[in-house]
Amino acid sequence: MKYQKLLCGQLYDGVEDRLQPHQEILIQDDTILEVGPHTASPQGCRVIDLSHLTVTPGMIDAHVHASFFDWREIGKDAVYYSDGMRALAAAECARRALSGGFTTIRHVGWFRQDYSLDVKRAIQAGYIQGARMVVAPHFLCAPGSHGDSTQSLGVNPALSNFLEKQYPTMGSGADFFRNAVRHEVKIGADFIKIMATGGFFTPNDSPEDIQLSDEELRAIMETAHALHTTVTAHAYTSQLVSKLTEMGIDGIEHASLVDRETILAMEKRDVYVVPTFCPYDEIVLLDEEKLAQKSPEFQRKLRYYRDRLVESRRLLIDSNLRLGYGTDLVVGYQNYECGREYSAWLRNGVDPYRALKAATAENARILGLEDQTGTIEPGKLADVAAWSRDLLTDHTALLDCAFVMKEGAEYPAHSMLD
Ligand SMILES: [Zn+2]
Repeated sequence: MKYQKLLCGQLYDGVEDRLQPHQEILIQDDTILEVGPHTASPQGCRVIDLSHLTVTPGMIDAHVHASFFDWREIGKDAVYYSDGMRALAAAECARRALSGGFTTIRHVGWFRQDYSLDVKRAIQAGYIQGARMVVAPHFLCAPGSHGDSTQSLGVNPALSNFLEKQYPTMGSGADFFRNAVRHEVKIGADFIKIMATGGFFTPNDSPEDIQLSDEELRAIMETAHALHTTVTAHAYTSQLVSKLTEMGIDGIEHASLVDRETILAMEKRDVYVVPTFCPYDEIVLLDEEKLAQKSPEFQRKLRYYRDRLVESRRLLIDSNLRLGYGTDLVVGYQNYECGREYSAWLRNGVDPYRALKAATAENARILGLEDQTGTIEPGKLADVAAWSRDLLTDHTALLDCAFVMKEGAEYPAHSMLD
């Protein structure tokens, strides 16, 4: 039996909206045994002094695309990089996320064959080090949709048609998608992710497009739920989000163009939303320098929708929705810089405790891990992070990790601000 004790300067435990001074966390092997101002001191207990830091549960990022190394190279992903290279990228993303204090990341799919499930298993088995992964390897989508990485190769039909066939969950028709869900569950997917609408990032579609038919959407949800798997959808507009809510979807990613009525409907049905504020911050806060890094088409779309993005963001923040914390970094920052979203929430006036709760206890619930992680309580896994900056006032605080532990093992912490 191995015992460790963490001496905390301040503790945010994921349960109460406050920072508690001078708390101790007693850990036995991989599990939290006791929390309080004075915990037991078993023989041989290793004491780790974090009295100069603010201690939190290990953070969780619910919207990561892990399978690429550098956002500036994403254009090459469709044809240039091998699957092996992309699996290595997912492993590196998980390693770096962990070093930044994020002990769990949810991979919400990527283009082509994806091997993030293997990365997850290698981490679980202890062969490599990284954040715990919850994985939907392939998003379900239709040809030409936001999920089709060959969209921009449409001018070369022979090549794009060939590459389309390499992607296991892209197709059409209710039967195709029933099989796709069954296949994803068979290979070990933790949940199902669908690309139900166009996007800002892809060149030839609109965030207002609906890219799957009602029949296809129903087939996906019925099959997933029959197999006790949840479904989350990349979706923006009220028209689509209210339809998905009606059909029984579990979660929505983005929801960036929804109205009040749709939010009320989601609240009523307990649909969670991972709003991914960070990628739209440049247009909401009009950061021209960052905007200039995006393609002209991407910029045009963002400027066109700015007023609606601002309005919907306000409605989401003022709602009683279950909001999850997710970065969705594919442009502008690296995919492992999971603390970026905290900056977006705080700079948009969200109560820091709501942001902290979203990145810990709420995300654990969204990922189905609420019995294991997300809070500092006896019986939970010893997933712990500690921070040197003031979490309540400094919007960069979650980019500056000073200590990280996953399942009782300490890992090197790394500041993303260096
Ligand atoms: Zn995404």
